Amino acid sequence: MNYDFDLLVIGAGSGGVRAARMAAQMGVRVAVIEARYLGGTCVNVGCVPKKLFVYASEFNQSFIDSAGFGYTVDKKPTFDWPTLRDNKTAEIERLQGVYQGLLENSGVTIINGHGEFVTEHSVRVGDQVYSAANILIATGSWPVTTPIPGNELVMTSNEFFYMDEFPRHAIVVGGGYIAVEFAGILNGLGSDTHLVYRGAPVLRGFDDDIRQFVSEELIEAGIDIHYGRTVEKVEKQADGRLAVTFDNDQVVVTDAVINALGRKALVEPLKLAAAGVELASRGHLEVNEHYQTNVPHIFAVGDVIGRVQLTPVALAEGMYVAHHLFSQDAPRKVNYGLIPTAVFCQPNLGTVGLSENEAILQYDRVAVFVSRFKAMKNTLSGSTHRTLMKVLVDTETDKVIGCHMVGHEAGEIIQGLAVALQAGATKADFDSTLGIHPTAAEEFVTMR
Ligand code: FAD
Ligand code: NDP
Repeated sequence: MNYDFDLLVIGAGSGGVRAARMAAQMGVRVAVIEARYLGGTCVNVGCVPKKLFVYASEFNQSFIDSAGFGYTVDKKPTFDWPTLRDNKTAEIERLQGVYQGLLENSGVTIINGHGEFVTEHSVRVGDQVYSAANILIATGSWPVTTPIPGNELVMTSNEFFYMDEFPRHAIVVGGGYIAVEFAGILNGLGSDTHLVYRGAPVLRGFDDDIRQFVSEELIEAGIDIHYGRTVEKVEKQADGRLAVTFDNDQVVVTDAVINALGRKALVEPLKLAAAGVELASRGHLEVNEHYQTNVPHIFAVGDVIGRVQLTPVALAEGMYVAHHLFSQDAPRKVNYGLIPTAVFCQPNLGTVGLSENEAILQYDRVAVFVSRFKAMKNTLSGSTHRTLMKVLVDTETDKVIGCHMVGHEAGEIIQGLAVALQAGATKADFDSTLGIHPTAAEEFVTMR
């Protein structure tokens, strides 16, 4: 058959752009279809704007901390939301241009519009139909919503980044990555922030000590946490504010409600049935070890496959597919057992490897090293924020099987340790590594 392309990618987000660029650089004909924005969730309404807002939210504490170092901030600093929001948007527009350049310079054809399957080898965008030998679905995910009365008054992360006004009082619903990060942003920027979570403590799935510690730090930072609660309804009052009723009938009046209840695979608009692609029961695309769906020449990567919803994972999966299809070299398998990750709450959480509970289930003898301390900067600043570090070791092999941290720049520190764990470092390797003094990170090589 004579197809228009060797690879047609649907979705120009983290996974799709990486796969398209890699494949094009291998000399094959590639096109990518994008319905909304080049760069996908991460660049437009995810990692990038979120991190910029996190930086913004840290200034207030820094102004306070500076007094212990001799500074006088004469006037109470004021914060202007439109400046932050619009500067962020300008930076994102710049990044969209960078992505466009990267794709075009690699020889990828960019097709703007919404893609839907016509057959198992062709996709329609508007009134054009494109055919391809191989198709990669990289359409990402979309925020979950709940059908409560007043749901139309509730924001998701998508709207949060473009709010007209900064809420003086806000309720964030959920206890995962986005809820914890957004609560920190709102609180740091001066909003009276409430977090409503059906469980306790936040961040289910992370190490229990870490969860507890983050929970205490959120409260210490001034966030009002409502554990074991859900939102029953949201009503608009005559003054425009929102009355939010919890499942215990408590009513809290607020300016904004933001749901962060997880993200589901974005597949409905693809018309998968036209290509015979089947969905798993949880609504995501099921793939094998080569990221093939049940139709062998249709692949899927990233959030849409319902494994791990993180940008570096989508990138690695996209790279795998490009190599699997078009390179002589064996593709590099994604190590799902060792995915480093950070939650950009205040202070940050960084983690790689197993939690204590997971380690105990997988290994007979686990040694646990924990250190809790006040970071040096906080001695003069008077800040009450603390740092937690935790290392888990399989004592039979001496291998380090988990590193966790809550503290300033934890993500930056854990990235380095992820290399050590990927290389199979032992506790003896950690112990014989010299520290960098005075840092917080040196604690990881001095814990005994
Ligand atoms: P996406 O990046 O979502 O890309 C999918 C693309 O497909 C989109 O551009 C979409 O418009 C397009 N599309 C969908 N359907 C169609 C169609 N039918 N036709 C054409 N185009 C279509 N991860 C991290 O690692 N670190 C973080 O700090 C982080 N922060 C986050 C913060 C927030 C608020 C959110 C929401 C997510 C965050 N993530 C973070 C997760 C990360 O953004 C995702 O895991 C990542 O973007 C997934 O990449 P993807 O390629 O699977 O999908
Ligand atoms: P998460 O899966 O992290 O958290 C979802 C939260 O919503 C959980 O606390 C869950 O509770 C709760 N929840 C789910 N359904 C309901 C419901 N019906 N009623 C009440 N509560 C509910 O999803 P997020 O939306 O926070 O983020 C989506 C994904 O994006 C993350 O999983 C992560 O992979 C990625 N991300 C990564 C970031 C990073 O790398 N720093 C930052 C932001 C997002 P329970 O725990 O009880 O299930």
